[in-house]
Amino acid sequence: MSFDLAARLAARQADNLYRQRPLLQSPQGPVVTVDGKAYLAFSSNDYLGLANHPKLIEALQQGAAQWGVGGGASHLVIGHSEPHHQLENALAEFTGRERVLLMGSGYMANLAVITALVGKGDTVLHDRLNHASLLDAGLLSGARFSRYLHNDLDSLKLRFKRAQGNTLLVTDGVFSMDGDLAPLPELAAQAYAHQAWLMVDDAHGFGVLGKTGAGLVEHYGLSTEDVPVLVGTLGKAFGTSGAFIAGSEALIETLIQFARPYIYTTSSPPAVACATLASLELLKSEHWRREHLQQLIAQFRQGAQTLGLNLVESPTPIQPVIVGDSGAAMAMANRLRERGILVGAIRPPTVPTGSARLRITLTAAHSSAQVQQLIEALAQSQAEVQHG
Ligand SMILES: *Cc1c(COP(=O)(O)O)cnc(C)c1O
Repeated sequence: MSFDLAARLAARQADNLYRQRPLLQSPQGPVVTVDGKAYLAFSSNDYLGLANHPKLIEALQQGAAQWGVGGGASHLVIGHSEPHHQLENALAEFTGRERVLLMGSGYMANLAVITALVGKGDTVLHDRLNHASLLDAGLLSGARFSRYLHNDLDSLKLRFKRAQGNTLLVTDGVFSMDGDLAPLPELAAQAYAHQAWLMVDDAHGFGVLGKTGAGLVEHYGLSTEDVPVLVGTLGKAFGTSGAFIAGSEALIETLIQFARPYIYTTSSPPAVACATLASLELLKSEHWRREHLQQLIAQFRQGAQTLGLNLVESPTPIQPVIVGDSGAAMAMANRLRERGILVGAIRPPTVPTGSARLRITLTAAHSSAQVQQLIEALAQSQAEVQHG
């Protein structure tokens, strides 16, 4: 027996699925330095342009001066510090939930909740396009695992018929590779009718959607009864790092007692919580970021539609251009790169086979002129790729 890694890697390359890590040599922003060159980038999840904001940097520095660098221990031992606690309270108020639990990352938050709530004999129902961390968590839980067609309520109804035990209905709020929205009121109604719980991972909705930026749940006006489990991440619109779970007092206490990915890990640096508190203030108070973002989204969609590009029905800063073939998606991304524009080419298995795409993301830090530059570069690259 041996591990034939070379063969696996070669096969990956032959399938046009080989991944490489661009080396970022500047902070996040509309213009970045990657592998020694400057690019206009449309590929980060820093939707509000806060990742490099002076107020966040200052809060992080002051936080480090006051609290040091390392979390030092797990939350249950002696790693739960004052800034973590303050941030949990602030996020509970922001989301209108009784309580919030802070986590080191969104991936871990999803593992924590799902494995703590369901197990053998229970059921977890997933939208087919849910984030990988949700799917992994479902598998790890040992619960019966079933996926329904994307945003398809009839398909979901069929899955409910075969559900057993406690049933958790799990969905992305804003779908991470498509930018479209889950029909939360309808999902909440179905969950209620089947005595199931609805869990929403709104990693891409927080900061961007809702009147105060509290995401898709705020956009639809849904309560804890409608959405008992709400997950948000801090590495996207918040511009920092980490994640949170919001819900009832009983939910959060259950997680503290039983969620292994919460219990068996060191708390995140308290200074990061200080930075997130600063970010939360900006996110709530600076409405102009959301408004400007909406203008850029409209501008982009209009320009791309004029070019005949294949867009997704997305009202969010995630604006994929569906290309189909992995090779063609790579070719488009490379042509754009030659023009000084950086966008991600997302290929299977991250997205379903045959739906390779450019994942274009807009941020409040972009200008209208930069979006115009993107549209012009897309027009030129498209013409080149089509004519070989
Ligand atoms: C990014 C993302 C995560 C993971 O969050 P991290 O904090 O980056 O680990 C989870 N769910 C969704 C939908 C995401 O987009």
